[in-house]
Order: sequence, then C-alpha cells, then structure tokens
Amino acid sequence: MSGDVSDVSDASDVSTDPAGSIDLVDIGVNLTHKRFRADLADVIARARAAGVGTMVVTGTSLAGSWAAWELARQHPGVLHATAGVHPHGARDCTGDTLAELRDLACRAEVRAVGECGLDYDRNFSPPPDQRRWFAAQVELAGELSMPVFLHERAAHGDFLAILRERRAALPAAVVHCFTGSAAELDAYLDLDLHIGITGWICDERRGLHLRDLVARIPLERLMIETDAPFLMPRDLPRPPPDRRNEPAFLPHILDRVAAAAGKPRDEVARATTRAARRFFGLGGAAGTGAADPAPADVPSAAGTR
Ligand SMILES: [Zn+2]
Repeated sequence: MSGDVSDVSDASDVSTDPAGSIDLVDIGVNLTHKRFRADLADVIARARAAGVGTMVVTGTSLAGSWAAWELARQHPGVLHATAGVHPHGARDCTGDTLAELRDLACRAEVRAVGECGLDYDRNFSPPPDQRRWFAAQVELAGELSMPVFLHERAAHGDFLAILRERRAALPAAVVHCFTGSAAELDAYLDLDLHIGITGWICDERRGLHLRDLVARIPLERLMIETDAPFLMPRDLPRPPPDRRNEPAFLPHILDRVAAAAGKPRDEVARATTRAARRFFGLGGAAGTGAADPAPADVPSAAGTR
C-alpha cells in the first residue's frame, strides 16, 4: 500500500489547511475499519496533504490490534498503533488475551495500551467483565510503563475508581473522545489525565456543552482526534455523501477546538501536536516534514517508554 501524497489530486476537496503548516497528530483513527478497506492509501494521502502527518491507529480488539500494528509497520513514522480490547469485547477476554496484548505492546510501533475502559451505555459486555478487563489492561500498561488510551461512556464513577487506584503506576493516560460534564472533566484533570476531543464538539445536537469546557483543559494535556470513520463533524462545509469521517478532517476539528478555547489556531495546533508527541513518545517532528520545529522539550521515544 503506497501512501504517496503525489497520487492525490483531489486534496482540495477537503476543507483544511494546505500542507506545510504544523504537522497535526490524529490520536485516534480506526484505519483498520472495513470502511477504509477499499481506499486506505488515498485516505492516508489525503490526511497528509491536509497537514495530518501522524496518526495513531486505535486497536479495539486482539485482531484489530494486530491489524493496527501491521498498518503501522507498513507506514513507519506516519502511522503508530495502540493495542487493547474495547469494553464491548470484554466478555471474550481470557488470560491469553492479556498475554497477546503484552506481546503486541512490546513492539516498537505500539505506543499505548488501549482502547480500554468502561461503556455502560449499551453494555455489550456485562459490567463486571468490563471492570475486570479494564483494570487488567491498566495494570499491564503500568507494568510496561506505557500510556493508556481510555474509553468511558456512561460509567464515570466506576471508571474513575478503577483508574484512581492505578494511576500512580501509569506514565500518562488519555480519556479519548471526552463528551462528559464539567464535573467529570475536572475529576479527570485532577487525576492528571490527558483529554482527547473529537468532532463531537461540532455536533449542534449534543456537543455544544463541550465548547464551554475546552478552555478548562490545560493546553499541554489537550489532544485532538477524528475517531474516523465514526463521528463525522456535522458542520463540515462539504460533508462527504457517505458520511464517512476521515483523518483529513482533523484540521476542521482543530478550528472548532481553538475557537472554543479562545486561543489562536496555530497555538492550539502546536500545543496539541507537542502534547501528542510527548504522550505517545514520538520524538520530534516527522511525517509531512511540517514546518513546526521539533520542540526542544519533547523527550525521545526511549525517554517516555
Ligand atoms: Zn472509544
């Protein structure tokens, strides 16, 4: 699969920055999803042309984590991976699952444990299973001194309790796709967590409260993500007819986040990129050869693992 940017002639269809500005990091993109199977190379190329030079492919199951790792291996320096089991899959976890996750997590392309957490919204797995395997994955991350990529929906209290007990062993943790209340956000910030904001903030039906909350998040703990192919920003000027989200739309989310934070776009771009590179131990600037100089205070990958 070639991700050659020069293959892409329709990058101008994407309402984003031209390439050459700050290299953005999409910290959560489900590129192994079947909706990307037919045109993944184009999706990656469009993202890079839009200034999204680095993407972290979310692993949400064992098979998905292997696939994410394989993708990252094929696109060194552009794609990275996480390895974990989403709470929806907790019912199928066994001791072998954990051993396999450990194997994956020790590979250089895998930069975090997760996606793991609790989701009581639909309870696809029984809550006791969810809690058990969430705790186990957080403990694995602690053992390996790796950051964790976290998912929480309608489960704030239990989620916080499990995390609080194990927080000291973790180098860092991000609540991805945060959609909660002010009190929930404050509790996460008190635990020194990072916060991932998606295109949910663009949703006039259910995301507007996030616009008031973003300013509370210290810039060094704020990161941005598309969660593609899910959560297409609802206010894209030219939404794709199939309503598939893709990482090339990240600059649009950045615009909304910067406006909500009341800060200049470039400042938020630079800060979120720096936070993501530090969080995932990605070292200096890479990917599209963006103009942002490698921040001197970003430790090397080895320093954060
Ligand atoms: Zn999630």
